[in-house]
Amino acid sequence: MNMKKLKQLQRWLYCLLLGGCFVTSTQAFGQNQEKTPPNVIIVLVDDLGYADVGFNGCKDILTPNIDRIANEGVKFTNGYVSYAVCGPSRAGLITGRYQGRFGFRRNPLFAPNDPAMGLPLSEETLAAALKKAYYKTIAIGKWHLGAHHTLHPLKRGFDDFYGFLSGGHRYFPEEWTLADEYEARSQFDGYKTMLLRNYERVEENAYLTDALSREAVSYIEKYQDGPFFMYLSYNAPHTPLQATPKYLDRFDHIKDKRRKTYAAMVSAVDDGLGAILEKLEELDLRENTMIWFLSDNGGPEPNNSSDNGVLRGKKGDVYEGGIRVPFAVSWPASLPKGKVIDQPVISLDIFATAVENAGKPIRTKNKIDGVNLMPFINGKKKKQAHDWLFWHKYDQGNYALRQGDIKIVNYQKQGKMLFNLTKDISENQDLAEENEQTFDKLQKQFKQIEAKMKPPIFLGLMHNEEYDKLHPKRWHRPK
Ligand code: CA
Repeated sequence: MNMKKLKQLQRWLYCLLLGGCFVTSTQAFGQNQEKTPPNVIIVLVDDLGYADVGFNGCKDILTPNIDRIANEGVKFTNGYVSYAVCGPSRAGLITGRYQGRFGFRRNPLFAPNDPAMGLPLSEETLAAALKKAYYKTIAIGKWHLGAHHTLHPLKRGFDDFYGFLSGGHRYFPEEWTLADEYEARSQFDGYKTMLLRNYERVEENAYLTDALSREAVSYIEKYQDGPFFMYLSYNAPHTPLQATPKYLDRFDHIKDKRRKTYAAMVSAVDDGLGAILEKLEELDLRENTMIWFLSDNGGPEPNNSSDNGVLRGKKGDVYEGGIRVPFAVSWPASLPKGKVIDQPVISLDIFATAVENAGKPIRTKNKIDGVNLMPFINGKKKKQAHDWLFWHKYDQGNYALRQGDIKIVNYQKQGKMLFNLTKDISENQDLAEENEQTFDKLQKQFKQIEAKMKPPIFLGLMHNEEYDKLHPKRWHRPK
């Protein structure tokens, strides 16, 4: 008997025990399932360009499995993250709050001795929130929310962890030469640490992306009775550009060597998604699993050969190219198939959507900024999910605020700009001069929001040298 049939039989027996309910079709099971908490999987990729997935029109890299999330679920054409680089964007996603509220306003440094370098303990992660509804939780891949032992994923609501604590990593196991964080002597040595399974170092032999996918599949198998929450945080296709022949061989049509390697890295993630979907189907879990797919920020086009398509700017910008990302969700039991949502949504909404559909009321520790997207997707709520969205690159002083079609952008160098994104997705036509009043109104709104944020609570990547001087024991092993 295959696994699917076995599961069906188990449900029949369960149903009979509960009082002999007569269920005659899997559809009727579906109705019963409506209140069963869904499994939640977030597939977060790193530095993927807006136009680098099939569901956003990519032609040179095929992503059939990633596309299934959008085609069998919902695609967000105006899906944003809350910051234009990795660390703060992840802090927003995992807490459901604008990370400025708790001062996470820079990319953190790799600092294993520093309990303040990462996600403050005042914050509750989505994993910790879902545990209130008895979810099992795992983080796989890149953490980047603090390398100090008090900030480890297992201290932040996750039952299991497989991955690395730094903000990036090399992909070939032979390059993981450091036994732990304290053997590092510089920021980017963090890319060379051996992987962790919970608190233990492991001997891993697989290409990094394949190893993370394998762990994801094996976790689903192990915790198939669910519900589970998996935060699958691939570091691909972040630099360094490294791929194996298995994936490179698929891209002989790409002549540019860097783009070819980038494509191979994306393809490895796509294979991972394929294996995950296959396992969910095999175990009859696909229907009631909510899978999100998104990138943590826009593509840094020149660095990793990514492509943001028609969007202006790149990773680090508050133009669309820095903050609008490939974004989709699939949950066959409760969401329509092939729907396209054009209104603005943000990564912060994932927290709210997961928590409000967990089958049990969950009281979150802090007030969250995201909203449950379900009624907006299903058309039960007609108004926009968000009155405004905002972004602030703190150290550079650049900011943006979007309200409906209109977005104001302020750069220290270029000054004030205003765009109508529905008419001008590429932010080419600056309408600030003829819409001075609107600009002023939205700028005032930005300032009111910003006044509720905290100043940065740690030095960031750009302060590496300054940090080294202030912390001469940065790499000392604690006694
Ligand atoms: Ca990133």
